[in-house]
Amino acid sequence: MAFSIGIDLGGTTLAGVLVDEELNILAEEKIPVDREKRVEKVIGDMELLIRNFKKKGKGDCLGVGLALPGLLDWERGGIVFSENLNWRNVPVIPLLKEKLSLPFFMEHDVRSGAVAEVYFGAARPFQDVLYVSVGTGIAGSLIWKRNIIRGAHEASAELGHIVVEPNGPLCRCGNIGCLEALASGSAMERDAFHLSGKHVKGEEIFERAQEGVSPYQEVVKRASGFLGLGLFNLVQIFDPEVIILGGGVAEAGEWWLEMIREGYENRFFWTPIIPPLLLGQFRGRASVMGAAGLPILQKRGEYSQSIY
Ligand SMILES: [Zn+2]
Repeated sequence: MAFSIGIDLGGTTLAGVLVDEELNILAEEKIPVDREKRVEKVIGDMELLIRNFKKKGKGDCLGVGLALPGLLDWERGGIVFSENLNWRNVPVIPLLKEKLSLPFFMEHDVRSGAVAEVYFGAARPFQDVLYVSVGTGIAGSLIWKRNIIRGAHEASAELGHIVVEPNGPLCRCGNIGCLEALASGSAMERDAFHLSGKHVKGEEIFERAQEGVSPYQEVVKRASGFLGLGLFNLVQIFDPEVIILGGGVAEAGEWWLEMIREGYENRFFWTPIIPPLLLGQFRGRASVMGAAGLPILQKRGEYSQSIY
């Protein structure tokens, strides 16, 4: 018997899972990230999570997989730059290894979600996969024949910042009309606030929209329309076999997918080949599950990666 540990370091939440060799969850924990994002405190919290899971696990520990945000330092095992954490040059794995002698693996957080779906989830039957994560922001990852396409500067598939409405709202990146500024969870919350004058959380917007309540239905419809347009544009560039949608917003399920399809499938009037849109199996948990999957894939010899 063996187990693996996955940790996803987000801007606000530190999520961890303990899984068996088939990636079944044995234990799960979430704690808020230190408000000031102090390196020592955050690394200490990660250490604590790992120790707790290690105590609970039975058999051999295959290792710890980390899903990290921003631009990664593959040489040392850490973060070169993360906007969400406001971290620069933090050697995350060497800091953890001072306290824990375990094999460590890492992957960029969104790509980690893609790894989860491709090797363990909804994308398993497919070869060329475009994975799109929709949550507070929008990001993506391309996995072609089981290889992650990273790009020359590790910045491939930054889908959130393709421009779909040149006269649209300001994006947090400084540009105007990015997909993220129109179709993400935070974009819907912003639009709902402008139209209703009330701060309503994403899940509630979806609930009310499904009941046909105005202006929530219009808000979701507009955002989904832009997402459909963005996905259509991406298909013209990449020609994927399938598009898998994950992230927190994907928790909304099939109903949301139907809304996106309206703005997606109708644009393919000249070709019968329409890559299907599917919901990911892991949704909001994809990054942490992919992280937990890294030591398992290493053992199976299915995925080449650095061991720290
Ligand atoms: Zn942007």
